[in-house]
Amino acid sequence: MKPNRVAIVTGAASGIGLATAQLLAGEGWLVVSCDLQQAHESIHEIENWKEHLLVDVRSVEHLAKLIEIAATYGPIEALINNAGVNHVADITEVSEEDWDRVLDTNLKAVFFASRYVVPYFRKQGKGSLVNIASNAGLLPRAHDPVYSISKMSLVGLTKSLALCLSRDNIRVNCICPGPVSETGIINADLAAAADPEATAQSFINASPLAAAQGRMIHPKEVAANVSFLLSEAAAMVTGTSIAIDGGKSLGVPPK
Ligand code: NAD
Repeated sequence: MKPNRVAIVTGAASGIGLATAQLLAGEGWLVVSCDLQQAHESIHEIENWKEHLLVDVRSVEHLAKLIEIAATYGPIEALINNAGVNHVADITEVSEEDWDRVLDTNLKAVFFASRYVVPYFRKQGKGSLVNIASNAGLLPRAHDPVYSISKMSLVGLTKSLALCLSRDNIRVNCICPGPVSETGIINADLAAAADPEATAQSFINASPLAAAQGRMIHPKEVAANVSFLLSEAAAMVTGTSIAIDGGKSLGVPPK
């Protein structure tokens, strides 16, 4: 069944956001996306991918404008808060600027995008927020404390908003992926590594299912779970975190 409703996807120029925008538009959602970067060329081939806006999600004014423009395409029923940045650094190397960049992108933007979209959801009597958190939102990591703090807080924001909005029939869930291939974040990590192949293998080995299958998680696997969370099958699902990390957050030590 074609939803024929508007879904907004942030950070859709690459990686998980791109796979999600492509999948949702293919399913019949009217997709409005945004990013700091230009849209992927596939936007021109997908009829329902209506518009891609150059937006800095750290700006509350940009977010308000994004949602106002999205509403011109039809009733907004979904917001995928996906834009995010990583920051690998020891605590002694974290500047105030780093803290603001990571927390403003990964947490503040999610709150304010949600804050601006909720009136539209309330008008329709339903809506769904899906936040792309991380495996680092379930288990803190030693090498990127600011990122872990932002994603753990995002898991908390998800539960808090789920409770605040459930009487309005608005569902709020998050997805916590482990290392996802073909994304800007993982490509940058590998490019910075002394031995990219060994680093990629260490990401795989850290997750039991990834090790068993000899591969990282794919962006399409995350997108498919976004689609599930937006579907009727998830009509009673709210406040949850879906770990797509091949069992990494079970705390199984790598071999
Ligand atoms: P990505 O770098 O391919 O995509 C992130 C997108 O967000 C980029 O296109 C980037 O330009 C955009 N973005 C960053 N800051 C922005 C801003 N201020 N305003 C607008 N857009 C902005 O990486 P990805 O892995 O696809 O990241 C998507 C989400 O998945 C992020 O929230 C990330 O934390 C999360 N995540 C990724 C992984 C992974 O292994 N790649 C694992 C767990 C969680």
